[in-house]
Amino acid sequence: MIPYATPEEAEAALGRAMTKAEAAWFRYTAATPDFWLYCCCVALVLLVYTLAPLPLALLELCAPAKLTSPYKLQPQVRLSPAAFLRCFKDTSLTMALSIAPLPFILYPVFKFVHQVRTGLPLPSPWESAAQLLVYFLVEDYVGYWIHRLLHTEWCYDKIHHVHHEYKAPMGYAAPYAHWVEVFVLGSASFAGLAIVPCHITTFWLWFIVRPLEAVDTHSGFDFPFSPTKLIPFYGGAEYHDYHHYVGKGSKNNFASVFTFCDYIYGTHKVYFFLVNVHIYKALITISLKKKTSN
Ligand SMILES: [Zn+2]
Ligand SMILES: [Zn+2]
Repeated sequence: MIPYATPEEAEAALGRAMTKAEAAWFRYTAATPDFWLYCCCVALVLLVYTLAPLPLALLELCAPAKLTSPYKLQPQVRLSPAAFLRCFKDTSLTMALSIAPLPFILYPVFKFVHQVRTGLPLPSPWESAAQLLVYFLVEDYVGYWIHRLLHTEWCYDKIHHVHHEYKAPMGYAAPYAHWVEVFVLGSASFAGLAIVPCHITTFWLWFIVRPLEAVDTHSGFDFPFSPTKLIPFYGGAEYHDYHHYVGKGSKNNFASVFTFCDYIYGTHKVYFFLVNVHIYKALITISLKKKTSN
């Protein structure tokens, strides 16, 4: 809630006139409790995970295979409408049960550890961009080690195997995981916020772009014209698709966003070898041929 009763008070405190964006923010949030602003973040996460995978799901279901196959990472795997629906329903249930109650539990953390501010001034685009970059880097590092831990035998069998049910993932499978994994891996998303506090608008933005990235990584499609190809060290869909394809035995490609952790700790070598000799796609073809002939 903004601690000024009128725009004049806010401008006196700022020592300047409000920008159009700040005036709009004042109008819409002046009387809104911080708790409700925080709850918007959960709504945004649920909305992104519901809507963002939809275009590629429709493309896969409705477009002719010859049109989509060149861009599908595992073109022989065609998911049925029932498979999409089941994944969406299971994911929605897990998210509703594990993420929706979070504001009630984590609000004190948001307020006193993350120190997310809700007032004025609004952050500049550069400030938000720099903070988002920090959050991505921190989350990637923390998430890398949690993901490696999840691939130890006990953790995989008890928890992480759920996320790996989809050997050929789709956007809706991005948050498809055991509820313990949703909590534990999800906590990595909050690590950067504890180091670099931000404005609530950046907080919202973080919980839009991070799920969007997860949906892209699990999309099952790799488009050569994707703008993400321009991001240095960005793993992307093919990188993570290989991790899903290998499954339990995977000792490679643990990073969720960038590839630098895998480079540093040497967990990229097998994947890079396979990509370089073009064996990855051949392996999929052979494996699927075997399956269909059995
Ligand atoms: Zn994994
Ligand atoms: Zn995954």
